[in-house]
Amino acid sequence: MERKIRGSILNSYMAYVTKKWGKDGKRLCMSDIGLWGEFRDGNYYQDAIRENILRWMSREKGEEYLRECGKFIVSNLGILSWLVRFADPKTLASKFPKNFSEVYSYGRMETITDKDNEIIIRLFDVNRIKESCDVWHGVCEGALSVTKTPGTVEKTKCAVDGDECCEYRIIY
Ligand SMILES: [Zn+2]
Repeated sequence: MERKIRGSILNSYMAYVTKKWGKDGKRLCMSDIGLWGEFRDGNYYQDAIRENILRWMSREKGEEYLRECGKFIVSNLGILSWLVRFADPKTLASKFPKNFSEVYSYGRMETITDKDNEIIIRLFDVNRIKESCDVWHGVCEGALSVTKTPGTVEKTKCAVDGDECCEYRIIY
């Protein structure tokens, strides 16, 4: 399957870059990876662009920003923003797979919520680079932070290391 993602994902990454490093930072990022113009939210783009933005962020700014970027994305998800005002992390995380399949043309996401105070999130055929795994770690942390729930996220499996999926365990 061709790996494509909607422009809305790229726009939320670039919104993070702009928030952290300003318009100049955004321009630099775009020119460093050979991009110009705007992404349209609903259009599909090559996933390699997404990976290149993450590599740029990690290489030029530091890998610690990847998780923060993931957290930022959750708090800026238009589709979910109405939900977070009253949602607990489980309600929010249970919406992730549908939202995922609307913006990613490839891979699969699974959310397991059958235990108290624990959420397991699995990504199949999604991450090919560690930078992407880190962003998803941040997305899981975002499910806690936007619902103002104290807790931790542990990465328990990784497809880049040869596991069947990337798996994150959210405990709260
Ligand atoms: Zn991984």
